[in-house]
Order: sequence, then structure tokens, then C-alpha cells
Amino acid sequence: MSSICQEANQEFGPTLTIVKAAEEAAELSAACAKLATTKGIALKEWDNVVDETADVEITNERVALLYPHGPEEFERLVHERKVYKLKRLEGIINA
Ligand SMILES: [Mg+2]
Repeated sequence: MSSICQEANQEFGPTLTIVKAAEEAAELSAACAKLATTKGIALKEWDNVVDETADVEITNERVALLYPHGPEEFERLVHERKVYKLKRLEGIINA
């Protein structure tokens, strides 16, 4: 997938790549809000959350490719932060 993302970044440039990531994050946020306020099973709303999550994962990969220290370092740092935040969450739920 990264070669497609790299091609997309070259086509649209860094500014539009970052703006697209912000747009997709906002769409996922809206989809989650809609899901939370819909009564019942809400399969259509879940489908939208799935769709927007896919968009966010793609745009996250495209943003990682722009990172000055490289995408591997970006992913390593994100993983490091996730470990920290999951430990913090564990502390909250076990308090
Ligand atoms: Mg979208």
C-alpha cells in the first residue's frame, strides 16, 4: 500500500496530503458521533465508521511518509506513544 500512498503524496503534495488527513479524521469523528446518537443496531452508521476508519488509516500512512525522519521512525514513535497511553488507560480503569 505504501507505494500507492507515495504516488498519491507526489501527485497532491505535502500540504494537500496533510489537509486530507485532517478531513478524514473529521469525517471519522462525525461518523462516531452519528453512531453514538443513533438508536438500535445502527448497521449503516457502523458501515460509515468502518469506511472512515479505512480512510484515516490510509491518510495516516500518507502522513507517515512525509515525516522528516522517515516513516519507520514515525511508526516507531507512534507505537511508543500507544504503549504509554495504553498503560495510562490501564491505570485509569484499575484505579
Ligand atoms: Mg472519508
